Parts: sequence; structure tokens; C-alpha cells
Amino acid sequence: MHALDSRETWNDADLLAALRRIFGYTSFRPQQRDIIRGILDGRDSLSIMPTGGGKSLCFQLPAALRDGVCVVISPLISLMKDQVDAACANGLRAAALNSSLDAAGRGAVHAALREGALDLLYISPERLNVPGFWDTLAALPLAFFAIDEAHCISQWGHDFRPDYLALSGLVERFPGCPVAAFTATATPEVERDILQRLGLRDPLLIRSSFDRPNLFYHVQPKENVHAQLTAFLERHAGESGIVYRSTRKKVEETAAFLQKKGFRAGCYHAGLGDAERARAQEAFRRDECPLMVATVAFGMGIDKPDVRFVAHLDLPKNLESYYQETGRAGRDGDPAHCLLLYSPADMAQLLYFARQSEDEDQRAVAERQAYAMLDYADRNECRRKTLLAYFGEAYQAPCGGCDVCTGEIREEDYTIEAQKALSAMVRSGCRFGRVLIMDILMGADSRRIRETGFHSLPTYGVGKDRSRRFWRYLIDALLRHGLAATEGEDYPVLRVTEAGWETLRGKNPFRALRIVETRAKRTREKTAADPGSADESLFQRLREERRRLAEAAQVPPYVIFHDRALREMAARKPASPEELLDVPGVGEKKLRQYGEAFLAAIAAHVSETDVSAATPDPVSAASA
Ligand code: ADP
Ligand code: ZN
Repeated sequence: MHALDSRETWNDADLLAALRRIFGYTSFRPQQRDIIRGILDGRDSLSIMPTGGGKSLCFQLPAALRDGVCVVISPLISLMKDQVDAACANGLRAAALNSSLDAAGRGAVHAALREGALDLLYISPERLNVPGFWDTLAALPLAFFAIDEAHCISQWGHDFRPDYLALSGLVERFPGCPVAAFTATATPEVERDILQRLGLRDPLLIRSSFDRPNLFYHVQPKENVHAQLTAFLERHAGESGIVYRSTRKKVEETAAFLQKKGFRAGCYHAGLGDAERARAQEAFRRDECPLMVATVAFGMGIDKPDVRFVAHLDLPKNLESYYQETGRAGRDGDPAHCLLLYSPADMAQLLYFARQSEDEDQRAVAERQAYAMLDYADRNECRRKTLLAYFGEAYQAPCGGCDVCTGEIREEDYTIEAQKALSAMVRSGCRFGRVLIMDILMGADSRRIRETGFHSLPTYGVGKDRSRRFWRYLIDALLRHGLAATEGEDYPVLRVTEAGWETLRGKNPFRALRIVETRAKRTREKTAADPGSADESLFQRLREERRRLAEAAQVPPYVIFHDRALREMAARKPASPEELLDVPGVGEKKLRQYGEAFLAAIAAHVSETDVSAATPDPVSAASA
């Protein structure tokens, strides 16, 4: 076994050079360097980093530098292949050992291990319980253990995996081998649990901020779900994204709606067969079907880095889930958008479920979580600040990356409109639902209006100056703000509350959020990095080239290059291998493997489009 005292020492320049050479990146993200140094110094560590924070690099880089093999424990077999492919694409020697291999495949991996021909070995936790496997490991020169998704060891976490408990024996069995644990979710209880169960020795604890600066958060009251979704998708044409719905039925409705509109949208929920789900996920991964409509069953297995938006058309069950689900957007660090639609009915349902628990403590927790979710959606406060506060992190608003901070939503005074609507409820005896109230306000000539004789009410037609859609939104707002309430389940009727009466009497002015339909806003990072200037048609051409290569190599496109790297190429138009190597995300291995193809595509594009390139621009030539 690899002994700790035989370690080499690495200085920062060595680490940077390795980062450059293997991954093609020029700088470490916050905390990455500390984690890597910890591993190289032989220390145990627990790193809590948000999704997309760059965990895999933290163990892949030291795996390349240290002698021996790094054993990575990873819970999802479906993801292992991707991770192995991605590592190999960067020139690392990686393989996976899991139940998806046949005997010959396993034999080949074992042979590679014996020859010391691997930097990284990915295994599933079940493998640790295979008789004799620990002895196999013990016979190898080991570099260190990396435990991915370490929260799976804790019963407090939401993904408890009994197989992870086997990891408790690791430290005792391999005392000379450091253990680096990683997770993207850890409340304080889970954190304690991980440390204790793994038995980490004087571990380095690294907790990154949970802020995801490249995510833009929007919230809208739910009016017409599909119309709102369509408007949102129009601003994200051609991009990959996930649309979450709360039930299977809604998933199917929304997927059918999108397909009918001509979108390439897949569908995923627990009611579908394994094969069907796997097919949908694969098509999504490979961008054949860039949109996925899903329940939360579409979760852990997604590590597609270029998901550009996550839209929740129904309220998620709590902020932790919302954070995890939106966290699937923008793993690659490029701008991505998170849309949440909410309605009074969703909110009422959330509270109703929270109150179902028999246990008083559990009920209190559930209610607190539900209220936190409602607060996020309904309060006119920086979304990012509210979200991070839930994880105990202070944040100084404005963030510049949410609808509140950018002024995309504003508050308006709607006292007069509220009075009109409330008065229509009172005048009609608080016995009717919103359709009739809107009819009264709009002065509609409907059968029910004629039957009830409401065309003679003084409020009949007082809201003609506004659209029906406006009144629907306003009534929703009155419900949300508690000025009106509904009664009855099947045919809910609207009644005016005490607070509503105050408004009618002119004592309680009513302000509500106003939705201003704006064009898609660029998030901060996008403006800062300015890939907006990238040549769009070249970018598309490079994507096409990537798709072709990915198909030939049987890997998802992002294993070859991420969008961000392609966009940089489109902007910089490198003309030589050296220039291409300067593009972030292009390391030496990828340069050798794909450099030629991409340089050729760029050169072809330049010669087709830029006829003036050869002749100097007269103005700059004169001033030079
Ligand atoms: P996680 O596992 O934490 O969700 P990943 O390891 O998948 O995150 O990394 C997310 C993305 O960030 C990947 O596209 C990765 O290539 C990129 N990345 C990681 N470290 C860096 C870095 N130092 N510079 C630029 N990009 C990085
Ligand atoms: Zn904000």
C-alpha cells in the first residue's frame, strides 16, 4: 500500500501547471486548491460544495499527481460511465468496476489495476460488500479514497443508501490512505453524521458558499401555465432545459402540449417503465431531445453541464428541494435561468400537506419549511438572499441576478382595482366563484349574468378598462394577500375577509407585485465574460462538429467540449494549436484528439465569411 511518508511535495505553480495541462483551465475555483492540497498532504477532508462547484476536479487532479490509484465511490452506476468518459477525454487513466460489466470487462479492469495502469477507479458502494473486494483493494497501491455524494451515508439526508454504511470501515482497514469526502447537501446534522460515520481523522473541513452566481431567479404568479411556459421558452430557443411538474398527469399534459407545438420535449416520471425512462434520459443527455418535462423523479442522475434553464410550473415541496432542482441548471458556470410559477391553490396545498403529520415536531418542521417556500415566492425580497438565508448564509442584496433586484417586477398600487373586485364579491352576496366575479367586472353578457340579474349591479362593467387576464391575476393576488378567501372544494366561492373589508373602507391600501414582461436579461456573469459577442453562426457550426464527433465516439457532446469552450472558440477564432490551447477547457489531450477538427471548422468559417480579413481596415491601418 502507498505509504503517506513517501509523498512528494507540490507547490502552487505545479498545481496550476497540472490544471492547465490536464483540464485546460487557468485558475482554480475558490476552495479547489485547498481541497487538493489537503489530499496531496495526506489529510482527510470533507468538502461541501454546491452542484457545479467543481468537485470532480478536486479528486481527479490529485489522482493524476499522486502515485497509486484513487478509488472513487460514487452512488450511481448510470453516471459512472460519463465520469469515466470525461476523465479519459482529459487524458486521465480511468475505469469503473460495477455490476454493468461482464466477466471479461471486469477482468480487464483488474488487469489494469494490477499493472498500475489506472489513476482513477470508480466503484459503486455495493462493490464494497462483495466478498473479497477489500482484499483486492488492499493488494493495490492506493493513492486515496474519494467519496462522492457522501451525504448518502446519513439517515438524516434525503438520499440515504444503506450500502454507504460499509464505508465506516474504510479508515480502520486502510489507515495509511487519506479519505476525501464530497457532498453538495449537508445540513449541520448531516455534516456531523458524515464525519462520525466515516471516522475522519482531524479532517479538513471546507464549506463553499451555496450561492450559484450564474443562476438567475424569476418568480411569476401562475396564470396560464402553458402560455407562460411558451413565452419563457421563446426566450430560450434552442437551449436545453428541464420543466418540473408536480404530478405524472401534469407532466404528460405539458409534454404533449410542447410536442404539439413542435418542441423536441421528452417526458420522465416514476410511472414509466425503466427502459422508457432510460431512453428519455439518454435523448436528453445527448441533446437529441433538449427539453425534459418531468416530476422530481428526474433527479440525481443528471449531470448534464449545459442545462440552461429549470422551470417549475408547480410549487416544489420546500426550499431545499427547490435549491437542488434549480441547481441542475448551469453546472458549467454559464448563465442559466430558473423560473417558478405559483398560485394560491399550490400554496394552500403545500400548507395542507405540511399539516398532515401526526407528530407535532414533524408538523412544526414541515410548516416552517412550507412557509419558507411561500416566503420565497411571495415576498418582494431578493430571491438569492431568501434562498441562501434558508441555508444559514447571509447575503447582501441586491444580487443583480433575480427578478426583484433587476426591477423586472415592481410593486403597484392596486387599491382601486381591489375595491372594485371585492365590491363585486360583496354585491353578489359572496356566493360565487371567480368566473362570475370576472364576468361582473368585465360587464360580460353571459347566460349566468342574465340569470342572476347581475347586469343591474353598480359594479357591473366597472372593470372593462382592464383585461380578463388582469382580473384573474388580481383576484389571485387578493387571495394570496388574504384580502379574499375561497370556501368550498368543488365549486369554491370567493368571500371578502376582514382585511378585505378594511381595503373596501379605504383603510388598507393594496399593493401587489406587478409582472413586467421583459426580454430575456443577461445575468451578471454573462455581461462580465461577454461571450455575447461570440459569433453565433460559428458557434452553431462548432456545435455541429461536436455532435458529429460525439456520435462517432458514442459519448454525450459535453464530454468533448462544453458550450463555454465552443463559445470562446467562436469569439477568439484560434488559428493555431497554440491559440486553441489558450481557450479555457482545452487541455493537451483534447487538443491532440480534437484540435484539428475544430481548427479546420474555424478556418473554413473564417474564409467563408470574412473576405475582408486579408485586407487591413483602412481606418486602423491609418491610425497605426
Ligand atoms: P460538481 O461535481 O461539483 O457538480 P463538476 O465537477 O461537474 O461539478 O464541475 C462543474 C463544471 O465546472 C465542469 O464543467 C467543470 O469542468 C468546470 N470546472 C471545474 N473546475 C473549474 C475551474 N477551475 N475552472 C473552470 N471550470 C471548472
Ligand atoms: Zn436578488
